[in-house]
Amino acid sequence: MAITGDSRQQRRRHARERLKLGQSTLQKGLAVEPKRPEVVGVAEVLKAKLTESGNGMRAGEAAALAHDLAERSLRNAKPRLEVACAKGCNYCCHGFVGAVPPEAFRIARVIRNAASDALDPASVRARAKPLIGLSPAERVGRKLPCPLLVDGVCGVYRARPHVCRQTTSLSLPACREEFDGIDRNGRIEISSVHLACASNAHVALLGAMQAAGLPIVAYELAEMLDVVLSDPSSETRWLAGEPVFAAVKNVVVRPPNVDLVATRIAEALAP
Ligand code: SF4
Repeated sequence: MAITGDSRQQRRRHARERLKLGQSTLQKGLAVEPKRPEVVGVAEVLKAKLTESGNGMRAGEAAALAHDLAERSLRNAKPRLEVACAKGCNYCCHGFVGAVPPEAFRIARVIRNAASDALDPASVRARAKPLIGLSPAERVGRKLPCPLLVDGVCGVYRARPHVCRQTTSLSLPACREEFDGIDRNGRIEISSVHLACASNAHVALLGAMQAAGLPIVAYELAEMLDVVLSDPSSETRWLAGEPVFAAVKNVVVRPPNVDLVATRIAEALAP
């Protein structure tokens, strides 16, 4: 019995240490090639947020922490290559966008609080309708804009999903070609630094979700927003384990290695 008590104490101490490291890492950002304990520490903080009792907005708040981490990491990383992206260039905002539910809940909150007619829930849902049910292949060349695109710019820029932060092109002609439906076989050279900063934060979020007992399934963003904006209780219901997104057709298939890393992070957080 003494051994069990000791090991439980040790586990609690380790969890406290991870939390402390994670909190300081959230403040300073992750390196492009981060140390594993720092990623696990961040995941511990995100897990604590995702399991915060009595907080019905905790999923969106966890996504906000992860998004801010990606932003901070990028600021510190000083990308070596100049990206072709610029304000008002939105070719990539006409493609298939995948996100996890906490990201959609965060965006939905921004939309509900926005003082803009173009970004009110009904307008966003109306613009999402043409995208619903279309697979990535069915979107090619259709030039259908993301429902969050307002006057040519992202209406939720600070809250945009990790995948939009990863998608930073090094070639404007390549983006134009893809926009025009020319098959580039998914190959557009992107900034490895932007990719790493967003991916590192995203995998910490996935690991935290898994450790908190939440599904890590990702869906097409417009379909997910249509669901979330139609029901203000969707976040609470999803956190309670209800199949809120059961009717969403486009489930995103992630590379298996991403899920594997998330699982390893979740295992490191096991109580
Ligand atoms: S969320 Fe914003 S950045 Fe991402 S595709 Fe939509 S408009 Fe573009």
